[in-house]
Amino acid sequence: MSQHVVIIGAVALGPKAACRLKRVQPDARVTMIDAQKIISYGGCGIPYLVSGDVSDPKQLRTTSFHALRDEAFFKQAKGVDVLSETTVLKIDRKKKTVLVQEKNAEPREISYDKLVLATGSRPRTLPIPGVDLPGCLPVSTMTDAMTIRDMVTKGAVSKAVIVGAGFIGLEMAEALSDMWGIETSVIEVADQVLPGVVSKNIAHMAQQHLKDKEVTLCLAEMVTAIEGEGKVQRVITTKRTIEADLVILAAGVLPNSELAKDAGLTVSSSTGGIMVNKTMQTSDPNIYSGGDCVAIENLVTGKPGLFPLGSMANRQGRVIGTNLAGGRDTFPGAVGSLSIKIFDMGVAGTGLTLKRAQTEGFDAISAQVIQFDHAHFYPEKTLISLELVVEKGTGRVLGIQGISENLEGLAARIDAVAAILKYKPTVQDISNLELAYSPPFSAAMDVLNAVANVADNILGGRNRPISSSEFAALWENRKSNNLIVLDCRDRDNAEKFLAKHPDFWMNIPSETVQEHVDQVPKDKQVVLLCNTGGRSYEAQIKLDKAGVTNTVNLQGGWGNLRIWGLDPTTEE
Ligand SMILES: Cc1cc2nc3c(=O)[nH]c(=O)nc-3n(C[C@H](O)[C@H](O)[C@H](O)COP(=O)(O)OP(=O)(O)OC[C@H]3O[C@@H](n4cnc5c(N)ncnc54)[C@H](O)[C@@H]3O)c2cc1C
Repeated sequence: MSQHVVIIGAVALGPKAACRLKRVQPDARVTMIDAQKIISYGGCGIPYLVSGDVSDPKQLRTTSFHALRDEAFFKQAKGVDVLSETTVLKIDRKKKTVLVQEKNAEPREISYDKLVLATGSRPRTLPIPGVDLPGCLPVSTMTDAMTIRDMVTKGAVSKAVIVGAGFIGLEMAEALSDMWGIETSVIEVADQVLPGVVSKNIAHMAQQHLKDKEVTLCLAEMVTAIEGEGKVQRVITTKRTIEADLVILAAGVLPNSELAKDAGLTVSSSTGGIMVNKTMQTSDPNIYSGGDCVAIENLVTGKPGLFPLGSMANRQGRVIGTNLAGGRDTFPGAVGSLSIKIFDMGVAGTGLTLKRAQTEGFDAISAQVIQFDHAHFYPEKTLISLELVVEKGTGRVLGIQGISENLEGLAARIDAVAAILKYKPTVQDISNLELAYSPPFSAAMDVLNAVANVADNILGGRNRPISSSEFAALWENRKSNNLIVLDCRDRDNAEKFLAKHPDFWMNIPSETVQEHVDQVPKDKQVVLLCNTGGRSYEAQIKLDKAGVTNTVNLQGGWGNLRIWGLDPTTEE
């Protein structure tokens, strides 16, 4: 007799595992259960549904050939039974049953041969008053999405507050502010957007872009209460009160691992995720799990980690489907790769940020570069800014993050590193990474090779760097920091800076620096600057050779500073 597989959860991982199993073992009996009415939808499309880019909610629920993925579709097209609006209350591993609560019915038991936990995650709730007021909600399900969209299309929202500047919070900020002109504020407890995802430097560039797009950012600030009479009217933070008709809670997600824990399955004490081996089997060989509810190995740190991403759920679902059918596919772990569109900019990263690497105990540095995506002579080009995180001593690459208006070009560079990060590449591997080249696509020495070259020079002691954020801090107190900027560009480029800050700016083009060594002050902190950091690096080498070593090289130069939002020629 064919086996009966029960799957709890029917959004991303559940349907993928079910369909793969039925393709490999068509006679398997599969029952998929979900507490929600709407199943098998692309949650990642929710921000675009709210913005109106995706006009019909059904588009998130249809196949590429326009079939609606509802209960009838799974029954007829896939041979999978679906129990929607049904909650699994308990797992009895001895009896191999689950206790289910269907709508308007008494709880009943369903037996299984194999069980899959695809229970996903839930939004983190905030322990503050007012979170249950109408108009305050998470953005997790299609129901949430439709509620927000209804409010917005009816014109009920003129001011919105988003709690959390992670990728979901920022995508929602764009959706509300760009398409609907809603006055949008984002509150984040960390001192940067996308904490843990990108470095402070890249985050600052994203923050500048959000400000340009009139999104108000309240960083290093905590929400203490949400208030209103009968509905949301204002948000109280540690620093201010903000009026709001809509509050979206996007303060991260927690794995739904309680069912597993209650059934005695092993759950990671550090992350709360269900522990699985490389075949996605839990501590009970008859129970598989994957997606947002599991902890898998972080292949950079070697520790269990949560990766609540749709891309993970889909790939893990396939592995589970194969293994349920008797195969032995594996999912070795993840390095954590993410891309996000923020208005006109793309931000992407893989592996660890510098801060995270240092917290994990790596003696790490980062190298930054800004360079054109295409050959410099090609007419269409835009800048890509990358930051590579590297372990000192070994030169092991631990992560990379970037920002650019060229979304696909940025993703291509990040993905190239993501693909090999689990093999512990070194700076030399990235420096010599073979990338397809012709001028409309990239440069002969691609920006990705270039950032590794910069890292190699920093590790070799040839390049003593300073980041945009370090420079900004020095510049703010330039007098007491005894700072001077040595502009290594041509006079034309340096002119307006010299005029604005004659006491803190000097100009010697890098080509002539040997001839003017005696003009470089020995009693000041000298920051070398050019457009991208390349010419100033050459100037640093020449000055070092002449015995002038009180210099640091501004990584990414004026190009990075400009995206960073610091323009010494315009400031008061
Ligand atoms: C707004 C938004 C944007 C996103 N954008 C991206 C993106 O750009 N890229 C990306 O990779 N990821 C993105 N994600 C994340 C992605 O959607 C999730 O990682 C993915 O949906 C996880 O799939 P899952 O099947 O593991 O769990 P979920 O999608 O969480 O589904 C779990 C299901 O299990 C059900 N369930 C739980 N417990 C029970 C129970 N006891 N009984 C019955 N049913 C139960 C739940 O009701 C739920 O329907 C986004 C998510 C959101 C919300």
